[in-house]
Amino acid sequence: METLHLTDSPADLAVAAKLLAEGEPVAIPTETVYGLAADARNEQAVARIFAAKGRPQDNPLIVHIAAWEQLLPLVTEIPAHAKALAEKYWPGPLTMIFKRSEAIPASVSGGLDTLAIRWPSHPVAQALIRESGCPLAAPSANLSGSPSPTTAARTAADMDGRIAAIVDGGPCEVGVESTVVSLVGDVPQLLRPGYVTAEQIAEVCGDCRVNEAVTKPLKAGEAAASPGMKYKHYAPSARVILLDGSPDASIDYVNAHAGVGVWALAYDGETEGLQVPFITYGARNDEAAQAHAIFEALRRADELGAQILYTSCPRAGGLGLAVYNRLLRAAAFEVIEL
Ligand code: AMP
Ligand code: MG
Repeated sequence: METLHLTDSPADLAVAAKLLAEGEPVAIPTETVYGLAADARNEQAVARIFAAKGRPQDNPLIVHIAAWEQLLPLVTEIPAHAKALAEKYWPGPLTMIFKRSEAIPASVSGGLDTLAIRWPSHPVAQALIRESGCPLAAPSANLSGSPSPTTAARTAADMDGRIAAIVDGGPCEVGVESTVVSLVGDVPQLLRPGYVTAEQIAEVCGDCRVNEAVTKPLKAGEAAASPGMKYKHYAPSARVILLDGSPDASIDYVNAHAGVGVWALAYDGETEGLQVPFITYGARNDEAAQAHAIFEALRRADELGAQILYTSCPRAGGLGLAVYNRLLRAAAFEVIEL
């Protein structure tokens, strides 16, 4: 299949919207990462998303809307916490989990009776939802398991020849996938950290529980509250190893393990004394910069020939938790305590 490379001009968006309305998957920019979008109501279109990504059938998709009227038909009820969070954070990088209505095929939710929904703020994503007339199911536009793409070029590297079109809307601002919070129980539960933090959710709702699987591997036989947590994720080909220790101890450890293909992923301004090649991804106290750069840095590490990539553990709070969670999964939870 030849993949069309489209711009965000009105004429190109009309082409993309038509493809979406016809049930074809199209990669689109959002403020978080590029998404692989298709009509969420069309079972065949949804099947094409899973096929193009090589995504396991039980890993549910997020449905993207761009108007309040689109929400009600998709869910059985809108809890008070969801209303309050939507008022503050929609449109934006927050996904909420509701009880699913019958309007959406079960395959979108990987067979669960819940449905994840987000109203993205990116103008191109909004235009395509409006113009196609479809609520759009859209997981990240990478091959399953790989780092999420944050530019059209990275999207093309994974998706060329597999989907109908890619719309270039420039680099994504946030850089990590949306925060996922479940509002199905009494207390909001954070299933995936993102730009909207657990602390901010607790401020609106009075409380927010962080699901254990955000920072810990699932135990054998344990069911995942968020099926995506089961899979090794966001991983470059390089073996990523997290170092839990002081900056000096981390540099000493990396130097002691220098060798062919050994690289470091470091904070800006903290590379002095490193005796291996490195990539930087933002200053230690600038978690927004780290989130913005992390996936691009992981893909660059592969391009540059890294076989082992050492990096330090980000802060396990605020937006740092989102970066930490992505690195833990990229490392398949390989952490060395120094
Ligand atoms: P992606 O679309 O690639 O950003 O992945 C979507 C993430 O949201 C996955 O990690 C899913 O596990 C999670 N998710 C989507 N729908 C649900 C749901 N109904 N219940 C729990 N987690 C969900
Ligand atoms: Mg994904």
